[in-house]
Amino acid sequence: MMRVFAFLWLLTVVAGLSANRLQAQQSSAQSANETRRTAPAITPVLIGGQKYISHSDVRSYFGLTGQKIDGDKLELSNAKYSLIFRHNSQSSSFNNLRFVLSKPVIKRDGKFYISLLDCHKLLDPVLRPQYYPQLKRFNTVILDPGHGGSDAGATRAGVRESDLNLKLALLLRQKLQAAGFNVVMTRNEDKFLTLAQRVEIANGYNNAIFVSLHFNSAQPMARGIETFTLTPNGTTRSELLPGAMNGKMLGNNNDAANIALATALQNKTLRSLSADDRGIKRARYNVLCNVRHPAVLFVGGFVSNAAERQLISSPEYQQRMADALCEGIRLYHRYTRN
Ligand SMILES: [Zn+2]
Repeated sequence: MMRVFAFLWLLTVVAGLSANRLQAQQSSAQSANETRRTAPAITPVLIGGQKYISHSDVRSYFGLTGQKIDGDKLELSNAKYSLIFRHNSQSSSFNNLRFVLSKPVIKRDGKFYISLLDCHKLLDPVLRPQYYPQLKRFNTVILDPGHGGSDAGATRAGVRESDLNLKLALLLRQKLQAAGFNVVMTRNEDKFLTLAQRVEIANGYNNAIFVSLHFNSAQPMARGIETFTLTPNGTTRSELLPGAMNGKMLGNNNDAANIALATALQNKTLRSLSADDRGIKRARYNVLCNVRHPAVLFVGGFVSNAAERQLISSPEYQQRMADALCEGIRLYHRYTRN
């Protein structure tokens, strides 16, 4: 249930960003007067060359009156929100939904410090909805079943990710069409497509969102659902990837919409499937960088975990996952405006 709240809260969030005080604070001292006029002052502290905000500034800035410190764990709360941070960790919890921070939280001399970038790109959109622009209405959903053809993706015990991705996409297409959406598939058969081809197909449409569908493999215990969105400009990625790029990408134009869409999908699927919550994560995957629509990369489970492999191969579970994804997209759609 808490996840529903977390979700609604985030989506109300994304109902609108324009002037952003943290951003102003970050980019120049010029706006300091305006910042003071409208919100409690915050003073970034340099730690290891990065700007951080102390937890007491975070509390006063976001109106989080409750505070509990238990060793390396910090909990900030008010009537609506409960946020949990840990020293030396990028994992945070907002109303029981897991978010992966761009930089680890640091505890020093009894105080916790949260990076300015995470305050700006995660806390602010989530806790201060009034500063967000309307999310743009869409009528087309572009589904991108990952891999295909000579590229099977993650495989284990005869189960091929490329097949699972396509099955899920075909089920989801049906449900989205029944809900009135126009659906475009980057592939609807077992064929190879380059990442650039997927991007090119997606960018040929207007008023659209982009959902790339994947499963994964890792060590045998790893399982659960995770949703990736593009790393905000200026932050690090959640997971280390070779060849990752820096700087602003086309997809960064949709930072707020990206995290709203990711939260919708992560919430609906976790609630419906009772899967492990691996979190909403940041990455600079090619499709997330270069697609010009709000875009996410959803990972529905792990073929390397024997129990989960059985689940994600079962038609009944695939139906439920497609239903939950459809519900997530419809929920996100309800928060968009023309
Ligand atoms: Zn994949």
